[in-house]
Amino acid sequence: MVLVLGIESTAHTFGVGIATDDGAILANVNDTYTPPPGKGIHPREAAEHHVRVAPRLIEKALSTARVSLRDVDAVAFSQGPGLGPALRVGATVARALSVKFGKPLVPVHHGIAHVEIAKLVTELKDPLVVLISGGHTMVLAYSDGRYRVFGETLDITIGNCLDMFARELGFDMPGVPKIEELARKGRRYIPLPYTVIGQDLSYSGLLTRALQLVREGYPVEDVALSLVETAYYMLAEVTERALVSTGKRELLVTGGVARSKRLREIFNVVAEDYEVSLGFVTDELAGDNGAMIAFTGALAYRCGVTIPVEESYVRQRWRIDEVDVPWVEKILRGEIRFKFRKMY
Ligand code: AMP
Ligand code: MG
Repeated sequence: MVLVLGIESTAHTFGVGIATDDGAILANVNDTYTPPPGKGIHPREAAEHHVRVAPRLIEKALSTARVSLRDVDAVAFSQGPGLGPALRVGATVARALSVKFGKPLVPVHHGIAHVEIAKLVTELKDPLVVLISGGHTMVLAYSDGRYRVFGETLDITIGNCLDMFARELGFDMPGVPKIEELARKGRRYIPLPYTVIGQDLSYSGLLTRALQLVREGYPVEDVALSLVETAYYMLAEVTERALVSTGKRELLVTGGVARSKRLREIFNVVAEDYEVSLGFVTDELAGDNGAMIAFTGALAYRCGVTIPVEESYVRQRWRIDEVDVPWVEKILRGEIRFKFRKMY
């Protein structure tokens, strides 16, 4: 068994988690930077936030887990993708701990961490994955050593699309739940650009048109309803085809937007129609968090994945299908086993 401390800092959240490769989460402490209403995340301000909270969060994670840095086997960090200045804070902290305590440094891909933590809590083994976080809108499936992409956005993510719409209407972040609440009061569906190209999705034209309708005086509730329904159905369509072409019998939805109530309803219908088992990441582990980096770091470290400090630069545009995930094969073969235990 290995014990790993993991650091998340790709965007708005600085997080510290402590986890083992057999599924125990010993600590998960996170602090999210909230931009002023109507504003997006400014990378430098997010980074300054992370610098401010980092020492306190590391101490809190260690005291919650009742371990010291001497007890951990490795230090993992979110190497990318994300906002450069924010990523560099997490990487710098991880390098410092690695050098000072003589612990190996483990690079973790943020998107893969969203997937692994969701597999842990749902106990799904080999699912088709719908990854919908602030930075990703992708349909993925494991094959031959990597997660392969079976559809993705060609421009902005589904979360960005709804967050930017929310911001233009003056709501503060997170935007998705606010737009969904507004959408529930909508009464009429207004046709909007539904852009599915092969297995890929485009959300920017949808956002532009929705904002135009608001300016033209259409009721915001109706526009919100139309936007949410269009955005989610586009994703459901691509997911259905990916289920057919991959033949996967499980469907997993993870990332910050996986908390969406309406999206859950739609994916419940998809799972029923295609007779696949459906799992959603839990709300607590849906958004960016340190626990997912620690757990994925523990799986990676068990397979010997480490990086020398001098090569540990951050990767702002790191694609998920460029990353080898040797632990997945071992999990499928039963050589790595785990059970989710929340220990804090
Ligand atoms: P992440 O980058 O994984 O933390 O995900 C951030 C995204 O999750 C943003 O687009 C948020 O608007 C969205 N989000 C946050 N809370 C919720 C919620 N309760 N329901 C749906 N989406 C949410
Ligand atoms: Mg994320």
